[in-house]
Amino acid sequence: MSSNVRALDRARLSPAEAVRPERAEVEAAIRTVIRWAGDDPGRDGLIETPARVARAFEEYFAGYAQDPAEILQKTFEEIEGYDEMIVLRGIGFESHCEHHMAPIVGHAWVAYVPNGRVVGISKLARVVEVYARRLQIQEKMTAQIANTINDVLKPQGVGVIVKASHHCMTTRGVHKPDSDLVTSRMLGCFRDNPATRQEFLAMAD
Ligand SMILES: [Zn+2]
Repeated sequence: MSSNVRALDRARLSPAEAVRPERAEVEAAIRTVIRWAGDDPGRDGLIETPARVARAFEEYFAGYAQDPAEILQKTFEEIEGYDEMIVLRGIGFESHCEHHMAPIVGHAWVAYVPNGRVVGISKLARVVEVYARRLQIQEKMTAQIANTINDVLKPQGVGVIVKASHHCMTTRGVHKPDSDLVTSRMLGCFRDNPATRQEFLAMAD
């Protein structure tokens, strides 16, 4: 499934679009936005801004250059038959919504029940980070994290819960600063076994 997802990612770009623009083009675009906002990109305080924004965007969108399936390749099998839930709680992330490029700031809870092998716990956080550092909608990001762990580790089940505030509706639009969005994806035993699902939901409360 994850290789299908990657194939789809590639298919979406036409050959012309797949050529990455030069940094100078990106900086010129930022100068255009500044002029359009009503300011002078040539004044002292703004002269370095396009270069800084380009560097910031490089960081925000670093996830396109990373393969989340590869992060999960190294696993450990000496686990003495451990087969209970493993939960990494409250993984902080920052992402950007694909509709407004506005920040999405929140936390993810990632759980799985292993099937003979486990992965280094920091790797779960890195999978969240790779998908967060792309243009996203929260629903898709939640599914991508769960699907990737499920496809690569082939555990007994996976649960992912994401809670995040969306700046496109907290600082603009309907201006609801205290709202957050909760999404989840449950696979395998998290979907089929109500007790497992409940145990995980209680940990993410
Ligand atoms: Zn948005």
